[in-house]
Formats: sequence, structure tokens, C-alpha cells
Amino acid sequence: MILVGSKNSHKLLEVREILDPLGIRAVIAVNLPDVEEDGDTFAANAAKKAKIFASFLRAPCLADDSGLVVPALGGEPGIYSARYAGEPGDDREITDQKNLEKVLARIQEEGLHEPEAYFQCSLAIAIPGATERVVVATEGRVHGRIVATPRGENGFGYDPIFFHPESGCTLAELSADQKNALSHRGVALRALAEQLADPAIRTQIEPE
Ligand code: IMP
Repeated sequence: MILVGSKNSHKLLEVREILDPLGIRAVIAVNLPDVEEDGDTFAANAAKKAKIFASFLRAPCLADDSGLVVPALGGEPGIYSARYAGEPGDDREITDQKNLEKVLARIQEEGLHEPEAYFQCSLAIAIPGATERVVVATEGRVHGRIVATPRGENGFGYDPIFFHPESGCTLAELSADQKNALSHRGVALRALAEQLADPAIRTQIEPE
């Protein structure tokens, strides 16, 4: 069993769908403290959240940080993906829509056509203790292009404008299973599961 520290229900669902078949039960940790994501990288933010949550929960905790990177926009929105168009409001769908529109506006501003982009997900599991520390860290990416017209109803965030060439559609046009099979989060979670198969790591996380 692993506690997952995230407030994004879509992400939690994806975590469960991938870890369940691997025999790892993901349980959602609620009422977590707000953590300022002020690291320079996705990995630094994931590690910071995992450590703070592990110390708060007094139990091993998995945290993630993820986002969209458009290299032709200097890496935007990058680590600011969740708050690209301003501080997120209570309604995630409205926030997602505003963020997505800002990416499209910036692409138009720069005169770009379907620029290359990737999603990145960094994961970290930290254990509590006098000095809490990260015991597992992985990352995953999925590459594609940003299309001008949003397509698809599934997924969340920037999915409707992220075209995945190998699939011939946007991530929002894929089913949850199809997205998990190729997504940045899927890649990072399977790498995590591989590390958790190592008994030396597993016992640190599930001491009983
Ligand atoms: P986080 O919650 O700090 O990791 O912020 C991640 C942000 O990046 C989300 O709010 C989304 O806007 C975006 N993002 C991360 N993963 C995905 C994905 O799988 N699809 C679409 N957008 C994503």
C-alpha cells in the first residue's frame, strides 16, 4: 500500500489504474498541507512534496509534479503548467481551459505552427524520519505536437491540444487505458513499479 499525495482526482485515477494491476494499492491522502512548488524542476517539486507529505503523514508518501513543455516557447508552461494563466481557481475545468487558451495564444503570438511539445511527469516516494528522504524517484515523458484546435472529451488539462502522432489523435481522444499505456505518468509509474519490485526498496516503504 502506498499513500498518494495529490489533490487532482484525474491524476489519482491514472495512478490507481496503473499501480493496481501491479499489485500496489494506492490510497489517497487527504487534508494535506499546501506546498509551494518553488523548485526549478519537476523532479525538485515532486521530491519537496513527497518529503513534506511523508513527514506530515508520518508514513511513506508518493508525490508527483508534471506539466507540459513547449521547447519553442522557451519551455513554457513547464513547471508553471497548473498556474500558467494565473492562480488556479476552485473549478479545475475553467482553470484548465484558461491555461490551454494561453498556450494557444502564445503559439499564435510567436507565429509557430503545431510546435513540438512533451509532457513530463516526475515521481518521488519519500519516507518520514528525523530527516525524511526520497527513496525512489522516476520520470516519464510523452512527445507530440500542439494543435490549434482542441479535440476530444477525455483526460484533463492540456490533453485536447496535445496531438500524439503515433496514435493519430490528441490525448483527449484516447480512452483512459490508451492514455495510460503511453503517457508520461504511465511511463514514470511503470518505472516506479519496477523499482518497487526490488525487495530492498519495497521494505523501506512497507516495513511491516
Ligand atoms: P501539477 O498538479 O502541479 O503536477 O500540475 C500539472 C499541470 O500540468 C496540470 O494542472 C495540467 O494542466 C498539466 N498536466 C499534467 N499532466 C497532464 C496530462 O496528463 N494531461 C494534460 N495536462 C496535464
